[in-house]
Amino acid sequence: MKKGKCKLCLLQKDLQESHFLPAAVFKALLSPTERNPHPRFVSPNITLDTSRQMKDYVLCRECEQKFSENGERWVLSHMAKDTGFPLQEKLRKVAPIRSIPTLKTYAGALIPAIDVDKLEYFALSVFWRAAVHDWAPVHGQKYERLELGPYEETLRQFLLSLSPFPKNVVTLISVYEELNFTRTAFPPARGERAPEGRSYSFLIPGIQFSLSLGKGLPPEITEFDSHGPERKVFMALHAGWQADRLRSKLLLKQLGRPPAI
Ligand SMILES: [Zn+2]
Repeated sequence: MKKGKCKLCLLQKDLQESHFLPAAVFKALLSPTERNPHPRFVSPNITLDTSRQMKDYVLCRECEQKFSENGERWVLSHMAKDTGFPLQEKLRKVAPIRSIPTLKTYAGALIPAIDVDKLEYFALSVFWRAAVHDWAPVHGQKYERLELGPYEETLRQFLLSLSPFPKNVVTLISVYEELNFTRTAFPPARGERAPEGRSYSFLIPGIQFSLSLGKGLPPEITEFDSHGPERKVFMALHAGWQADRLRSKLLLKQLGRPPAI
C-alpha cells in the first residue's frame, strides 16, 4: 500500500496495486489447453514478465472495487478460459439479428443473459487506465499512453458514476467465433488515426473491445456501436476487423440496412 492521489476519484488515499489488465487475463493466458497450448500477449515469451511488471499504485480501494463490480467481475467470468467461453456459449443459444459469413450481429438488448453495460464499462475502464498512467514497458518497448484528449475527463466522470454514458464515444464489442483465440491478448493499442476521430482496441481471451472518439465518426464506426438501442454485440471470424476501416466499410455494405427492432 502507498499513499497518493487516486487517479479516478482524485482523493488522497491509500493506493492499491492496480493491474494494467486484470491479473485474471494473464492467468487465463497461462493455463494451457490442448487446443491452444501457447499463450500470446503480443508475443508468447513475454506473458509472464508482462503480468509481473504491468502493475502500479494508481487507484484507491473503493475505485478498484467500483471497477470490479461495474464491469471486471462479469466480463472476466465470461471471457474464454480452458474451462469454457461463457459469453460465446450464451450468444450461440440465441439467433443473431443479422448474419453474413464473417460476422453475426446480436442484439444485446434482447438477451437478458448478456450484460452489455458491464462489457462497456469494463472496456472504458481499461482504455481510461491506458491513458492516465505510464505503465511499464511491453517487450522492452515503452508503452505509449493512449491520448484521449478531452474524453479522458469525460470517461473519468462516467467511470466514477458522476455522469451518464458519454456522447461521441463509440464502443464495439466483438466475440471471437474461433476457439484458438482463447489464449491471446493484447493491450490497448493505438489504431488508425482518422480525421474524424481516434480509435483504439484491445483483446482479452476471446473478446475484443474497440473505442472510437470524435464528433464526426463515420457510419462504418457508429453502425457497430454497442450503446445504440439494439446494444449490439458481434461474433466475428477474424481478429482486428474493427480497427480496419476498409473492412468495416465492406462489412457494413454486406450487412445492408437492418430492420429496426
Ligand atoms: Zn479512488
